[in-house]
Amino acid sequence: MGSNIAQRSFEVGVGKLESVGATLERSGLKGNALLVSGSHVWEEYGTTLLQQVSRVASVEVHKVKANTMERAMDLAQQALLGDIDFIVGFGGGKATDVGKYAAYVAKKPYVSIPTTLANDGLVSAIAVLKDSESLPRSLGCRMPDVAILDIDIVMNGPIDLVKAGIGDTISNHTALIDWDIAVKAGRESENNYAKLMSSTALESLINSRFDEIDGDFLMQLAKSLIFSGIAMEYAGSSRPVSGSEHLFSHALDYYAPQNNLHGIQTALGTIAVLTLTGRPRKQLLDYLSRFEVDVNPRRLGIDKDQFVECFQKAPAMRPGRYTCLNECDLATANLEATYDQVLEETR
Ligand SMILES: [Zn+2]
Repeated sequence: MGSNIAQRSFEVGVGKLESVGATLERSGLKGNALLVSGSHVWEEYGTTLLQQVSRVASVEVHKVKANTMERAMDLAQQALLGDIDFIVGFGGGKATDVGKYAAYVAKKPYVSIPTTLANDGLVSAIAVLKDSESLPRSLGCRMPDVAILDIDIVMNGPIDLVKAGIGDTISNHTALIDWDIAVKAGRESENNYAKLMSSTALESLINSRFDEIDGDFLMQLAKSLIFSGIAMEYAGSSRPVSGSEHLFSHALDYYAPQNNLHGIQTALGTIAVLTLTGRPRKQLLDYLSRFEVDVNPRRLGIDKDQFVECFQKAPAMRPGRYTCLNECDLATANLEATYDQVLEETR
């Protein structure tokens, strides 16, 4: 369980893929490595990564296409039976979550090398895996022992994934409001340290001077997502970064699956919840439009009926998670008016 890790570390910067070997060496990782990779990124970066990891270990490569629990358990078993010393996950979320959970189950150190910044799960102690009915489950596990993020790889990837990462960070705003509401209602205890981490993630992003997506901006976004991950670690749950806006996003996944990115759905959820509860949102709307993060529900393919239904179903998505939705008017007419207002404000 990380006891054979000399040093936990987060490496964020340009060209970090070329120093993976050195980072592993510093962390004291060696022996046999099980490398779990997304197939697309492997085509482009596999040779470099393999060279790097091979500097400290003999490597067994497994490519994963789907983030299923079954695949994670299978790899955990292979790690246990195959005398594996540590697991490396490389990819945009599916492979890193499969690797993360396999490492947790097999009690092996885990090295995460995410290739996108699409959500705050990249460096968190939570893995999202599909169960036997193909429904996504958020499973508690451990934070990666080593996380390496190469800004060049993110820069060369799809811009929409970066926008989703902005959206997932924005959602800390409503998550923190919801946490306060739950504390006031006696449903949840406070954790100032986790709150501080979550608000730092949010504020350091929206108060930064950047107005375009470049390398420096991506450094900041990466740091914010790492802070969100640490917030979850300290809270022991996703509470500091996931409130009513995430419940709405989960409901969309179940009842109105349009294949929008998670972070875009949660950003829409944030704006919609603020609108529904009459809270200020101009600063967040301005920030989203500065980076052309489009959360207009109509353009995302979410019609009024789906919007209403998903807000009405949202509280049941995770019954233990008390949020503002437990205390506000979810009547159809009220939600329809909210939809219209969100359309107007995100025009
Ligand atoms: Zn999220």
